[in-house]
Order: sequence, then C-alpha cells, then structure tokens
Amino acid sequence: LRPPLLTVRGLTVARKDLPTARIVDGVDLDLRRGEALGLAGESGCGKTTTALALLGLLPDALVRTAGELLLDTEHGPRPLHTLSPRGMRAVRWRRVSMVFQGAMNALDPVMRVGDQIREAIRLHRPELDRAAADARVHELFDQVRLDPARARSYPHEFSGGQRQRLMIALALACGPDLIIGDEPTTALDVITQRRILDLLDELRRELDLSVLLITHDLSVLAETCDRVAVMYAGRVVEAGDVDQVYGSPQHPYTQRLLASFPAVGGPRELPPPIPGAPPDPAAPEPGCAFAPRCHAAVDRCRADAPTARAHPHESHTARCHLLPWPAPAPEAAR
Ligand code: SF4
Repeated sequence: LRPPLLTVRGLTVARKDLPTARIVDGVDLDLRRGEALGLAGESGCGKTTTALALLGLLPDALVRTAGELLLDTEHGPRPLHTLSPRGMRAVRWRRVSMVFQGAMNALDPVMRVGDQIREAIRLHRPELDRAAADARVHELFDQVRLDPARARSYPHEFSGGQRQRLMIALALACGPDLIIGDEPTTALDVITQRRILDLLDELRRELDLSVLLITHDLSVLAETCDRVAVMYAGRVVEAGDVDQVYGSPQHPYTQRLLASFPAVGGPRELPPPIPGAPPDPAAPEPGCAFAPRCHAAVDRCRADAPTARAHPHESHTARCHLLPWPAPAPEAAR
C-alpha cells in the first residue's frame, strides 16, 4: 500500500453562532498517494464543508471546532489545522487544489484564457518569469488535451466541457499532490461528463495525483474511485473499497442510497427516493441521526448514537447498531 497523503481525524465544523450545530461531526478520512476517494451523500450532508475545511476556505459563519488534518510532504506530515491563513495560502494550489461545481463560468470573459492561467501561475509561483509561465501554460493545455494554440482564445470560444478542462488546467497549474473535485461534472451533459471523468482518471495516473471526488452521483464514484466514504448528517456512516461498499453495503442509509439509483439495464422507472429529510443540525436529537428515516431502526437507535465498527478482515467501516461486526473496545469507540 502507498503511504497516506492526507489523514483527517475527528474533523468537526460548527456554526459560529451556535456551536452545537455541527455541519461536520467527527469525520475521519484517509487518502493514499495516487488514490481516488469518493465522498458521497445527499446535498447538505457535509461533503463540501469537509472539502472547504481541508482547504482552509470555510465560510465566515462556520468554524472548525476540532480535528486534525495531516498532509504528507517531502519534509514529513504537515498539520494543516495549525497553519495560519497565510500558511494555508501557501498550501492551496501548490499542494492541494480544487475544481468547483460550475467553476467553468468563473473565467474572466474579456481575458484570453492563456493569460488567465499564466497570471494564476505567477501569483502562486512568483519565481517563474513570463516565458517559463507561458511554457507551463503550453504544457497544461497538452495535459488537459486542448490545443495549446487555443491559449489565445477567449472563454466564450470554448464549450462547457472545454472550459471545465481549463479549470482542471488551473487546478494543475502549480503541480499539486491532491485535487479536490466538488461535483466537477454536474453542469455537463452525460457524454462530456464521461470525458472529463476519464481525463481526471488519466491525469491521476500520469501525474501520480490523489483525487478526492465529491458527488451525490454514486455511478460516477463507482467508475472513478478506489474507495468511497458515505456521509449522512455530517458523519461518515460507511467507508471502504468501492467493491466492498457497493457489493455489500452495511449501513441502511448506504443501502437505500444505492437502491435509489436507477440500475443500468433495469426497469425504466424511477426507483423510490429515501422517505423523510435529513435532521436539522441546529436541533440535534439523541441516538442515530438516520433513525427517523431508517427502515431497520430499533428502540436503541433512538437513544444511543452508534460508534464506528470495522469489518474484521477488510478495510470496511460503518456506524450502525445492527452490524454483524464486533464492537470496538470502549476506549477505541468514538
Ligand atoms: Fe438504522 Fe439504527 Fe443503524 Fe441508525 S443505528 S442506521 S437507525 S439500524
């Protein structure tokens, strides 16, 4: 196994005005070098907030109240959670960068795209002169399979998929180890979506990148990622290799989530959505957060929150009272 690039332990993010309202609640994640990890779950489950916390880009209303974020570097593990805003700025783009949902609309419409990418490079790598930055722009166009001659074009001369390639070029500009993709293909048609995902996959292998892919679309994760973590109400409720989680989902939420996706070649009718709505973080209830929507809930679920348990032989974990796996020793439970 490759060494870990990113280790997240107990990440908790809450509202500043109401610290009991946890948007992310004790999240643990491990991402190895060269690996693609998918973060799945309904909108509002804390996926994007987790990513923004990793980048030190939380909105003003939120604050990280607990947790450790360790990024492996050539000088050893670096604790991101202790960095100042200035220290975090040095990490963003150079080590960790992000491709946002709909980001392709963020390009300046009156500036040639090559100039925009060159300016971004020189902002983060002031040691490069203009010629070196231009050479890098040429290389980046090659990497995202765009003709470098098109660096002189304006954003409106590119299709949506090509503009998303430009955003990937921007994310790659400073040679990061990790790219976080937050619904990077949501605004695109299915064929373009496929091409962008294939490109990300090829780049991961060519450049030995790690990818954290955030999406509500489980079929995208199945095709693109090695491992998946499923979030519900701010917590990771199940995590493991894609084959394990998709082939033998253990948490009732994962089971319902997978069942609510249409199967390829299955009947041409929409599968049933999960009834009910996620809980309000401002009014937390005791017990399992999924209990009001869970088809398998028992009395205990409404009183005690389940702790994470691990499969005895596989790297598969889940949080549910009804798992057939052994419970952790009391001091290991969280
Ligand atoms: Fe359902 Fe209970 Fe498991 Fe929660 S702990 S997912 S309510 S069975």
